[in-house]
Amino acid sequence: MTSAGRFAPSPSGELHVGNLRTAILAWLFARSTGRRFLLRVEDLDRARAGAEAEQLRDLAAVGVDWDGGVVRQADRGPLYAAAVAGLAAAGLTYECFCTRREIQDAPSAPHAPQGAYPGTCRNLSVAERDAKRAVRPAAIRLRADVTEGTVRDLLHGSYTGAVDDFVLRRNDGVTAYNLAVVVDDADQGIDQVVRGDDLLPSTPRQAYLGTLLDIPVPEYAHVPLVVNADGARLAKRDGAVTLSDLARAGMQTDDVRDALLASLGLPPGPLPRALAVFRPAALPREPWVWPRA
Ligand code: GLU
Repeated sequence: MTSAGRFAPSPSGELHVGNLRTAILAWLFARSTGRRFLLRVEDLDRARAGAEAEQLRDLAAVGVDWDGGVVRQADRGPLYAAAVAGLAAAGLTYECFCTRREIQDAPSAPHAPQGAYPGTCRNLSVAERDAKRAVRPAAIRLRADVTEGTVRDLLHGSYTGAVDDFVLRRNDGVTAYNLAVVVDDADQGIDQVVRGDDLLPSTPRQAYLGTLLDIPVPEYAHVPLVVNADGARLAKRDGAVTLSDLARAGMQTDDVRDALLASLGLPPGPLPRALAVFRPAALPREPWVWPRA
């Protein structure tokens, strides 16, 4: 399979300028390295009717094109179930009955990284487990035998972060993002993952899961986010931040695209012009403050 990069939005609403900037970067990274560029809609959770169509429209409007059809996570349940079943058969999962509250209140395990699952359900006896099963459905957790992992990132260099017994399938039956993303990237032949740097802390977990599933670890580039004037990640409440809001406020799509390109030190105009001079090493490493927020 030829190598590929991707953009993987969650269809919870219209894309804002931060999402569009990340999409443009993912496209530039993929196209500048001769990769295919794929689009995956991460609709396991938080999907709003109509949002996918708006997102595809806005990506096309700024010049991001993609190869082949759009893949939707909601159509891929059997693939995720097979991965969880394989891990379970290898003794690498366990059922967890903890509520969020119970996890918060439990004393953390010695040497465990902050926020790590405390291991309450890791070694339940069969009798304990059956008693809990009668009370509430189980989530499925990974039985990790490490507490941290290191990944290489094109922009961040070597990054070490926590790996814990993270959830693979929630107790409402929904596949967890960390499992779906790893399975999907591998299944789609994606060997380059470019996304917002808010996801860097999850990356050692995903890379570790990949090794358990015998999946080659992709190349990672976690790119700086767009933030509001307070330095917080840009959100819908920050005013006119989507192409449609901005058009209503008098800023046309080509001008938004050019502002995003300028923030990356890239020339204005259709994306192939930026592609011709794109150099990852020259990218700004700081978050970009959206000037209108
Ligand atoms: N769906 C995630 C988001 O919109 C991105 C996941 C990823 O790129 O791995 O935040």
